[in-house]
Amino acid sequence: MEFIDLRSDTVTMPTPEMREAMYKAEVGDDVYGEDPTINRLEEMAKDLLGKEAAMFVTSGTQGNQVCVMTHTRPGEEIILEEKCHIITYEVGGIGYLAGVQAKLIKGERGAMNPEDIEAAIREEDIHQPRTSLICVENTHNRAGGTVIPMDVLRRTHEVARMHGIPVHMDGARIFNAATYLKVPVREIAKYADSVMFCLSKGLCAPVGSIVAGSREFIVRARKFRKMMGGGLRQAGFLAAAGIVALEKMTTRLQEDHDNARLLAEGLNSIPGISIDMETVQTNIVICDISGLNLTGDAFSRKLFEKGIRVNGGKSPIVRFVTHHGIEKEDVEKTIDAIKTIAKR
Ligand SMILES: *Cc1c(COP(=O)(O)O)cnc(C)c1O
Repeated sequence: MEFIDLRSDTVTMPTPEMREAMYKAEVGDDVYGEDPTINRLEEMAKDLLGKEAAMFVTSGTQGNQVCVMTHTRPGEEIILEEKCHIITYEVGGIGYLAGVQAKLIKGERGAMNPEDIEAAIREEDIHQPRTSLICVENTHNRAGGTVIPMDVLRRTHEVARMHGIPVHMDGARIFNAATYLKVPVREIAKYADSVMFCLSKGLCAPVGSIVAGSREFIVRARKFRKMMGGGLRQAGFLAAAGIVALEKMTTRLQEDHDNARLLAEGLNSIPGISIDMETVQTNIVICDISGLNLTGDAFSRKLFEKGIRVNGGKSPIVRFVTHHGIEKEDVEKTIDAIKTIAKR
């Protein structure tokens, strides 16, 4: 049986064009800087983001961690949104790898208020750690794929500038944010000193993410990537798929957003399920199924029997993610299946 897999956009498969490009890729030893396909991908990515330089990394997590290590020194403090990916899903890496501590701020739909950020910046004081980085997440995963409003991003950048603190953007899904805002990604990236984005999610590449920033930043980041075991050799096979991702897959994301909206509207009309429709902006739908008296795990097991996969959990919160390979009919089938579960 073919599952309708709504667990994540990470389940996307490389397209036939990507497989062909990988087969034919010209490669070299990238640790020597001699892989022409990696070089081309990094060149494309830096231009798209409007940065001086870019670097291929094996995953979004590696990219975020390398950026935190590059921006900070052990014993410093960094400001993050309390439910961000770096805090929730990166195995405590910032403490273990960068040796920094976190100052967490509660965001509104994933976006930290710039005034709260400013208030959280430490003063020069013999007792206090130095605040050395501000991390923003765009789109925000756990908030439901929400986009940081452009004005909030601009003011965040202003506050950071005023205090001489860099901004790192976890832009795993920055192309979804750009699609929602109808702006080129560089318009979003310009408010951050470093940006990470994933090739392997909605853009369908099998492996890899990009880190972009100033030339000087990327030179130092390459050394931390090497330390983390991320110095790859004939990595052009992966970059070849990444190039197709950037050339062909960034312009189709509106389809995923339309399907997410259709799904959210359908689910929100089912008694027992509620969704904050304001959060349905991109390809993620987070719904509260408390009214069904099921845990996320129990709900996900029932859906599994009907050929639909979602991630459960102990709480009654369930996340659905639309992506390449999920069609309108799949969304309709999913809504119907959930209606029958809700009836019992
Ligand atoms: C997926 C994700 C990452 C990390 O990506 P991996 O490639 O899975 O390590 C980082 N940040 C956000 C917001 C994500 O959704």
